[in-house]
Amino acid sequence: MRMRIVLMGPPGVGKGTQARKLTQRLRVPHVSTGDMLREAIHGGTALGRRVRPYLDQGRLVPDELMEEMIAERLSKDDARAGFVLDGFPRTLEQLATLDRVLGRLGVTVDRAFVLSVPEAELVRRLSGRRVCPECGALFHLDSRAPTAAGVCDACGSALVQRPDDDENVVRHRLEIYAAQTLPVIQAYRERGIHHEVDGAGEMDEVFERILRGLRDA
Ligand code: AMP
Repeated sequence: MRMRIVLMGPPGVGKGTQARKLTQRLRVPHVSTGDMLREAIHGGTALGRRVRPYLDQGRLVPDELMEEMIAERLSKDDARAGFVLDGFPRTLEQLATLDRVLGRLGVTVDRAFVLSVPEAELVRRLSGRRVCPECGALFHLDSRAPTAAGVCDACGSALVQRPDDDENVVRHRLEIYAAQTLPVIQAYRERGIHHEVDGAGEMDEVFERILRGLRDA
């Protein structure tokens, strides 16, 4: 089944985790703009140097820079089988870009899932989050602690906290989400392809809710 899915929700809601599970299930690529930007920073590319201050401060990277990146990624062969888009579109301008890019390819988004949990829970989840800078594996001090403290189970590298998971930066990211991204959700709602998913509870329960939403699609 060729599904083109957008996964939305505030920072800390578990988008990345659910997107990975969904892409494994559907066998389509996981297109995470946050991961792509972090890879560019890690790799020291020209793009990485330009976008680093935005990520560190929890601000959105300018739409022009995002446009080229997403157009290139979605035009790759593997994305013809479908995709799960995680972290894009985040502004109305990006929504227009996505429509344009997919229009050129002759396809549309099938479903926009919107994950939500109460704000206090978001802050708790983000401040306990740890990531592996080498392989991208995700951990949480409460719910998914690594076997050895501070060490990635998958590749043995030292885990880090993302600079934008600092509490003040998290608050700022939530404000940006409310101002810039909620209008995108509203647009998908008006198109009748949005599907709200309760993001509270265990990872597998949330995943089941998403799968139910897919079956109903
Ligand atoms: P994420 O991993 O999706 O939470 O993204 C982390 C950071 O990357 C965001 O706080 C932004 O600085 C940047 N970013 C990711 N996706 C986008 C996007 N679609 N537009 C602008 N900035 C983005």
